[in-house]
Amino acid sequence: MKYLISPHKKQYKANLHCHSILSDGKKTPEELKAMYRDHGYSILSITDHERPHCHSAMDEDDFLLLTGYECYIRPDPNARYNRYAKEVHLNLFARDPQNTTMICPNKPYMKYILRDNAMDEITAWTGSDRTREFTREYINEYIQTARDAGYLVAFNHFYWSMVDENDVLGYDGLFSMEMCNYSSYVTNHLEYNGMLYDKLLTHGQRIFCHSTDDNHNVYPIDHVENDSFGAFTMILPEKFAYASVIDAMEKGEMYSSMGPLFHEVSIEDGRLHIECSPVAHAFVFTGSKKPSYFHALPGQTATSIDLAVDPEARYVRVCIEDAEGRKADTRGYFPDELV
Ligand SMILES: [Zn+2]
Ligand SMILES: [Zn+2]
Repeated sequence: MKYLISPHKKQYKANLHCHSILSDGKKTPEELKAMYRDHGYSILSITDHERPHCHSAMDEDDFLLLTGYECYIRPDPNARYNRYAKEVHLNLFARDPQNTTMICPNKPYMKYILRDNAMDEITAWTGSDRTREFTREYINEYIQTARDAGYLVAFNHFYWSMVDENDVLGYDGLFSMEMCNYSSYVTNHLEYNGMLYDKLLTHGQRIFCHSTDDNHNVYPIDHVENDSFGAFTMILPEKFAYASVIDAMEKGEMYSSMGPLFHEVSIEDGRLHIECSPVAHAFVFTGSKKPSYFHALPGQTATSIDLAVDPEARYVRVCIEDAEGRKADTRGYFPDELV
């Protein structure tokens, strides 16, 4: 028997994408920590734009802050926003909480963080500070520079970015992609990227998935446009410590959710077994035209589900959906990981 989600490992709820007043968010880092901790989260990465901050001084025995930031690359050399143009946003997570190295700093991108003309404020940086280029070559160079500097690199909000699967297939070294980016989802109900994820896996791209709020908190949390607490990642580290959490993320010991929880996912003799919070639907995607699926009878839910796994599966990934249509997704597992 092989566990994809082990019932013996503790799960920690995380928001891995979040903005504070250090860039364009409305809450202070202290307020963000308090509100996420109060909502049952154990891990928060405050990923302000273009500049990493170490917030580890706010760590507690039951709450960890991951150092990281969100960087972006636009086609315009002056980095001007164009609502009809593609762009790429990446979340960088530091292996070492003290690592606040900026990757390829470039003045047009620093508007949130530097006072006029203050590139000399930047001390720790690496890579080239030349004008960013919206090319596959430049983006791959950027990703590689970030990896070499000790970051895990994730791909953010595919739908909002207006890229297509061939763009993403051309980017090397991404460890995970956002399945749901809730801030974007609130505005379009399309920023749930299960279809893209299947296309990447079908092409053999070894990439995990996670979900985030990407909250800016422009509106209060009881407002219809609140962007906190809508999408999250459950991480299953060996122990609750910074290095273990990063290690679990890097190994794909995590899953994505907008609500439902997996308690166990296992495979034995071509059957997949799921234990989960009450759900109305379950799917096993394998890269074929038709997944294995389960639908509860109208008005009913299930918490224990068995489904067949196609013996010719190119990969296996599991999705569950509750009665409100909220999904949770495992990452894709390739056949060599299932033996
Ligand atoms: Zn973004
Ligand atoms: Zn963001």
